[in-house]
Amino acid sequence: MPGTLVYLESHDGELTKGGLGLLSKAASLGGDVLGAVLGSGVADVAPRAGAFGASTVYVVDDEALAAPLPQPRVDALEAVVRESGADNVLFPASVLAADVAAGLAARLEAGLNWDLTDLRLEGDELVGVRPALGDTVLVDVGWTTTPRLAIVRSGTFDPVASGGTAEVKDVGATFQDFSTLATLVDHLQEESSGPAIEEADVIVAGGRGLGGPEGFSICEDLAAALGGAVAATRAVVDAGWYPYSAQVGQTGKTVSPKLYIALGISGAIQHKVGMQGSGTIVAINKDPNAPIFDFADVGVVGDLTQIAPKLTELLRART
Ligand SMILES: Cc1cc2nc3c(=O)[nH]c(=O)nc-3n(C[C@H](O)[C@H](O)[C@H](O)COP(=O)(O)OP(=O)(O)OC[C@H]3O[C@@H](n4cnc5c(N)ncnc54)[C@H](O)[C@@H]3O)c2cc1C
Repeated sequence: MPGTLVYLESHDGELTKGGLGLLSKAASLGGDVLGAVLGSGVADVAPRAGAFGASTVYVVDDEALAAPLPQPRVDALEAVVRESGADNVLFPASVLAADVAAGLAARLEAGLNWDLTDLRLEGDELVGVRPALGDTVLVDVGWTTTPRLAIVRSGTFDPVASGGTAEVKDVGATFQDFSTLATLVDHLQEESSGPAIEEADVIVAGGRGLGGPEGFSICEDLAAALGGAVAATRAVVDAGWYPYSAQVGQTGKTVSPKLYIALGISGAIQHKVGMQGSGTIVAINKDPNAPIFDFADVGVVGDLTQIAPKLTELLRART
């Protein structure tokens, strides 16, 4: 498969897990794997992509890319795609990446498939896999022209360090007048302690079984004892018990931690699709017939308000 370019985002001087996972997936398919790092002051983070399979990383380092706005990134990525000659351009899903991918598709008159959960090669043809009909079926999707653009669900692929190194190439971009008209007026950062759920190795997720917003302290305590992050079901997010940014599932985020502990979560299909890629799933639920026990690796039938705090206590005692 010739030339697959992965759009890489960085936060706090680190390339995000979603992009690194996508690089690893592209490397497993074969062909030339390339990275694109766009931003201001990002030259230092780019070489790290080599360890996850990129042979070349194209960098557009420009003040015009300082704010997380899509349009200047479309200009920059267009320049990278033309310079690299990439046939495939893959994006790890994020709010920004979705806008950049859509803008690039319009600019290049290219086809864009989104929400993919897998990629494979059939001969020389790239085939994407996309859940449909409320995530009840998986369908194959393809492209009729190149470059082929795709957005992949966040958390779908784990980064696998291969220990390689990448050649870094600087690319100069010309920004369109209309691309720089939007300015960032304000930027608010939600305060949170611990890792983001997309990046966390351990997630403690809470559902309606917590009984109310105050019940989330049980999740937070257990997550803190494990060095993990807190996630939530849509039912509790809709009820205003926890922020939307923590929602896992079909209309929330896709996560793949090593350990996923579900407290008072029934295991509806729309929740399952967002966390089924987790390494080990532990469920505590008082209903022995809860659907989550059909796919949990460890199931505990009981009252979470009794069990989870004891678990936290035991973990604290060990540290
Ligand atoms: C189009 C669409 C998209 C959706 N997207 C999402 C999504 O992205 N993410 C998502 O999560 N959902 C989503 N949903 C909603 C989904 O269908 C479920 O309604 C939701 O996941 C249920 O959340 P829950 O498990 O917290 O609540 P419930 O289904 O009410 O489950 C609560 C569980 O807690 C248990 N319980 C109660 N008390 C205790 C206790 N003391 N100890 C132990 N266990 C206890 C109960 O036995 C029960 O199993 C979507 C639905 C639709 C239609």
